[in-house]
Amino acid sequence: GKRALPGHTYCFSEEMAIEMKREAHIQQGLRKAMDEGAFELKFMPIHQRDKPWCTSAEALIRCTHPDLEGVGPDLFIPVAEKYGMIYELDLWVIEFCFREIGALKQEFREDIRDLRVAINISSLELNNPKLPAQIIMLANRHDIDLNTLDLELTETGLVSHKPSGLKMLTELRQHGIRIILDDFGTGYTAFNQLQHYPIDRLKIDRSFVNELSISGQAHTRSLVDVILRVAEIYGIPVTAEGVETQEQLNYLAQRGCHSFQGYYFNPPVALTKLIATRYQQKRS
Ligand code: C2E
Ligand code: CA
Ligand code: CA
Ligand code: CA
Repeated sequence: GKRALPGHTYCFSEEMAIEMKREAHIQQGLRKAMDEGAFELKFMPIHQRDKPWCTSAEALIRCTHPDLEGVGPDLFIPVAEKYGMIYELDLWVIEFCFREIGALKQEFREDIRDLRVAINISSLELNNPKLPAQIIMLANRHDIDLNTLDLELTETGLVSHKPSGLKMLTELRQHGIRIILDDFGTGYTAFNQLQHYPIDRLKIDRSFVNELSISGQAHTRSLVDVILRVAEIYGIPVTAEGVETQEQLNYLAQRGCHSFQGYYFNPPVALTKLIATRYQQKRS
């Protein structure tokens, strides 16, 4: 219960203590989960305007360890970043993803080969010069064509790791990997950064798409419009994330958005399920 003690300082330190405890709990849970491999990937389909089946799938990590029940990546990824566990975690995701694709290749040959896969990596990876070689090694091991791989990074990371980031992105692209700028519009230096980075695609952040459905949100509408216009000027295609309604889809499509992702189409599912659905859609 709350004590009748007034004063900002007291409340602040109590909140801090709770926050520190929560963080320690997540950190310990993560360590256990990593030692036990207690993670899985769900895949969220990305659709193009005039295609009934998805062209791409984004891998999203889930922790299956009971200690972290109900704790999503929005909470545990920042903790992994803070405690230096993110490199191990990102590598786990990359290898697990490649292995899952490899395992489905026998059964669904051409339906895997023409599917792009997008993997999120922490922007801290821009300071990890080993990453490109590790990705290439894992791709060779699991017979993955790097021309079908997208890496998603947030814009804030790009700005703070500029020289090393530039070098790495260039290297990754030389191997056929495409770079997606995630959560676009949530940072501040975004627009003028576009010309400095080798970016293949932008993702409009879910928060902007979300507000499109609320009538009278003229401000957000114009923000979405501005982002699409800027992307058009730089010649960069755009994916909208968090599309939940037909109205949002129509609005975005009408304004030249190229591809879409969100609950309107499908929630994240197991890769086997995504591939099986796609297989049926292609043949019906
Ligand atoms: P993100 O990369 O921006 O991923 C999109 C998030 O929005 C996902 O949440 C996805 O499930 C959710 N989403 C997409 N469309 C909709 C929609 O229509 N409605 C609603 N309500 N939600 C939608 P999730 O899976 O919880 O991931 C959260 C964040 O955690 C990701 O944001 C990403 O930054 C990070 N993350 C997830 N998986 C990984 C990973 O394997 N590695 C790294 N480094 N980060 C990851
Ligand atoms: Ca993403
Ligand atoms: Ca995003
Ligand atoms: Ca996000």
